[in-house]
Amino acid sequence: MTNTFIDAKTDLVGESINASVCIIGAGAAGITLARELAPSVADVVLVESGGLSLDGPTQALYSGQNLGLKYHDLLSSRLRYFGGTTNHWGGYCRYNDPIDYRGRPKLDVPRWPFDETVLAPFITRAAAQLGLEFAYFDPATRLSKLGEDTDALIDDASTGLMTKIFQISSKTRFAKIYGNELARLHNLRTYLNLSVTDIQLSESGRNVTAVTARTLTGKTVKITANTFVLACHAIENARLLLASNSQSPTGIGNRYDHVGRYFMDHVHVSGTKMIPSSSFPSLYNFYYLQSLGVNANISFTDPALQEMGILQYYCRFLPVYADEGVKPAMRRLQGKLWEPFDPESLDDLAMVLSDLPGATRLARSAAGGAPKPQYFNLQHRIEQAPNPESRILLSAKRDALGNRQADLMWRLNDVDYRTFRLGQQKIVAELSALGLGRFMVEELHDDYIDEHAIGHYHHIGTTRMAARAEDGVVDPNCRVFNVDNLYVAGSSTFPTAGYSGPTMMIIALALRLADHLKQSKAGN
Ligand SMILES: Cc1cc2nc3c(=O)[nH]c(=O)nc-3n(C[C@H](O)[C@H](O)[C@H](O)COP(=O)(O)OP(=O)(O)OC[C@H]3O[C@@H](n4cnc5c(N)ncnc54)[C@H](O)[C@@H]3O)c2cc1C
Repeated sequence: MTNTFIDAKTDLVGESINASVCIIGAGAAGITLARELAPSVADVVLVESGGLSLDGPTQALYSGQNLGLKYHDLLSSRLRYFGGTTNHWGGYCRYNDPIDYRGRPKLDVPRWPFDETVLAPFITRAAAQLGLEFAYFDPATRLSKLGEDTDALIDDASTGLMTKIFQISSKTRFAKIYGNELARLHNLRTYLNLSVTDIQLSESGRNVTAVTARTLTGKTVKITANTFVLACHAIENARLLLASNSQSPTGIGNRYDHVGRYFMDHVHVSGTKMIPSSSFPSLYNFYYLQSLGVNANISFTDPALQEMGILQYYCRFLPVYADEGVKPAMRRLQGKLWEPFDPESLDDLAMVLSDLPGATRLARSAAGGAPKPQYFNLQHRIEQAPNPESRILLSAKRDALGNRQADLMWRLNDVDYRTFRLGQQKIVAELSALGLGRFMVEELHDDYIDEHAIGHYHHIGTTRMAARAEDGVVDPNCRVFNVDNLYVAGSSTFPTAGYSGPTMMIIALALRLADHLKQSKAGN
C-alpha cells in the first residue's frame, strides 16, 4: 500500500500539482469521495495532512483552546492521519429521523434544504458500506432476529415513547479497509504528510485558483484543480475557510458570518437513578445489547417531541450491579488467578464477599446475561441546538505551519437546557406510570447541566447547508455559496445535529456529492 502513495515528506513532489478534482482530507468523507470519483473521473488527487500512522508533530496541528464549556481536548478529539478519525470511532450508526430535516421555528432550528427522501438512497448505500442491514434499523426486526421478546418494546405501552436503535458497525477502520483499494486506483494520486494551509480565490472571488499545501519539513506545494473539496472534519473545514482571508478579511464563504458558527455535538448528562421493577425490559440495559452489536434507547416520537417543544432526546440506562469497589476487585482477582498467591488478593476477596449477590450479577452480565441490576444510572442524551454563539474562532496562536489555530467556544442554550429537563421529566413520569421502576430524581438545572455536560466527539455544524446564501455556507449540493468550484464534505454541513451519530450520514452525503460531481462533470 505504501509504495503507491506519495509521501510528500520524503518523495519528490515538485512545486506544483495539477488535478481535475482535489480532495483535501482522507477520513470518512474524503476516502468515500475518492473511492467514488477515481474510477470515473480522470486525475483525482487526495491530499492528506498525516502519514499512515499517528505522529506527534502532525497531530499537534490540531491543537486549540476550549474557551467555553468544558469539552474534550481538541488535540485528541479527532485524528490527523490517513483514515482520519475513523481510526478510532465507535461505529454507532443511525440515520436522521424525518423531524431532523424539518424546520422547527419555535426552537430556532432551521430546516435542511431537502427532506429525507432525497438522502434515502444514499443512506441505504452508506449502511451497506458499513456492513449494516438496513432493515435492522427497525427495532422489532433487529431484536426478533436476536431472539429478544419484541413484546417487551415500550412503544405500544405508551403514547409518545419510542424505541430507537443504533446499529454498531464493525467496518470502521477506513484506512485498513480501503487503503489497498485506493492505492490501486489508476486515476488517483494520494499525497501523505501534506497539509493544506490556504485557499486562494480568483480576483472576482468566484473560483478557487489554487490551494497552498505544506509539509512539516519545509516544502511548499501549489495545487491547482478544476474542483476542490474540503473534507478535513468540521473544525478544520471552518478553520481553513476562516484562515484563507487574503482577499476577504472574514475568510471564504463568510459574507453572512456563518462560517465557524453553530458548532454542535450530541451531549449527555447523567443524573437520576432508577430501581427497576421486574417488568423493566432487559433490552434497554445498555451493556446487555451492546455486546450483541445493538444499542436500544428510549426516545420520543416526532409528534411527542413537537408537542413538548423540545429537541431530540433519548435516555440510556446504565446498570449498576454491585457496590462500588466490587468490580475492580473482581478484575484484579481474575488477573491473578494463575499467578503465585499475593496476600493483597485477600483484600479483594473480602471486598467481593462483602457484596456476593452484586458480584454474582456482575459475573452473569459479563457472561452475556442481563441480571436485574441494583439500579440504573440514567444518561440523558440530546441533540444540541444550532446556536450561533457555539463556534470555532481563529486563535492568536499559530501552529508549526504558521497557521492560526482553531479554538472552540462550546455553548449550550435555553433550548438545550429545556430539552434535558422536559426529556427527563417525561421519561420519569411515563416509566413510573407503567410501573417499570422507582426513581431518585436529580434536578437538571442549568448550572448542573453546564458542569456535567459531556460531548460525544461528534463535531457538527460550522459550514452549514442552506437553501439561500443568507442562511448558510454551502448550498444543497454542498458547494460554497458564490464560489463555483469549492465544495465541503462532512458533518460541518449538517444544519441540525439530529438523533443519529454523524458518520453514516457523512458517508451518505459524500456519496451524494460524488454523484453530483460526476453528473455535473465538475472534474472536467
Ligand atoms: C472517540 C470517538 C468515537 C466516535 N464514535 C462515533 C460513533 O460511534 N458514531 C459516529 O457516527 N461517529 C463517531 N465519531 C465521529 C467520527 O469519527 C467522525 O464523525 C468522522 O470520522 C468524521 O469524518 P470526516 O471525514 O469528516 O473527518 P476525519 O475522519 O476526521 O477525516 C479528516 C481528515 O482530514 C485530514 N486533514 C485535516 N486537516 C487537513 C489539512 N489542512 N490538509 C490535509 N488534510 C487534512 C485529517 O488528517 C483526517 O485524515 C467518533 C469520534 C471519536 C473521536
